[in-house]
Amino acid sequence: MEETDHEDSSRDPLPCQDLVDLENQHGAHNYHPLDVVIERAEGVWVYDVDGKRYLDCLAAYSAVNQGHCHPKILATLHEQAAKVTLTSRAFRNDQLPCSARISTTSPAMTWCSHELRHRAVETALKTARKWGYKVKGIPEGQAEIIVCSGNFHGRTITIVGFSSDDQYRDGFGPFAPGFKIIPYGDIDALRHAITPNTCAFLVEPIQGEAGIQIPPAGFLRQAAELCRENRVLLMADEIQSGLGRTGKLFAYMHEGITPDVLIVGKALAGGFYPVSAVLASREILGVFKSGDHGSTFGGNPLGCAIARTACAS
Ligand SMILES: *Cc1c(COP(=O)(O)O)cnc(C)c1O
Repeated sequence: MEETDHEDSSRDPLPCQDLVDLENQHGAHNYHPLDVVIERAEGVWVYDVDGKRYLDCLAAYSAVNQGHCHPKILATLHEQAAKVTLTSRAFRNDQLPCSARISTTSPAMTWCSHELRHRAVETALKTARKWGYKVKGIPEGQAEIIVCSGNFHGRTITIVGFSSDDQYRDGFGPFAPGFKIIPYGDIDALRHAITPNTCAFLVEPIQGEAGIQIPPAGFLRQAAELCRENRVLLMADEIQSGLGRTGKLFAYMHEGITPDVLIVGKALAGGFYPVSAVLASREILGVFKSGDHGSTFGGNPLGCAIARTACAS
């Protein structure tokens, strides 16, 4: 863009259609958004560049469950951003012990791995495999993880490799082996899929992206029993269903069970910052030794401070 253009555009906001055209010309077309250009938001309302108000019924796929620009979370963002935002995990920071707060939101979860967005499911898969080899004694390279048809766990190559949606996979192979897909909600299929090499069953207690699919009553409870009987980790992906979305703190609580591994994200930081986390017992997350796993932005003080306020808001 020429300098004069830039100066003009900073003085005079571009009209809606120009913004749409600019984005279409220069951005990758991996989304097909509505041509509403949002400029600001508050609570349940969003406002476009012409000042038109809309009721937001999407809430960023549940990432802003607390409402847009929640004042308490905003205050924390301002406060922490002016103090320190990133230390790397080579040092400690005073905000990271908020793990204790997040992990006590769910019983039996005492350890917590902090991840930037996208990373939590990958971390859970790595946890399950490592636990399978180091604790359960599965022969090296043989670990199996069971997942459900219609699943949505993210977009990394590992994860789309076990998607049952052709578009998510098309053109991205080859994929990682070691995953088995069963029909969602089918307890007999789960029973038959488990082998001595199964380390985990990864499941959304309610499938979000699949169109809000609720499994048959009792499925999660029976799945939890099967997992316990066979020493298989039950891993609940509550990135979308968790943190109050279903009327209880987590959707698994409707069936009175406790998963071995709980994956949270989205509303964890109220839309202010991409934060996700893996929660599990010390025995399970303790399989990671120093140097086994990491992330440049993981556990950063800004994300931790925001998550702590977002969970209390
Ligand atoms: C959104 C979502 C994810 C992926 O989160 P990203 O931040 O987009 O990587 C994983 N699991 C579930 C259930 C989700 O709804």
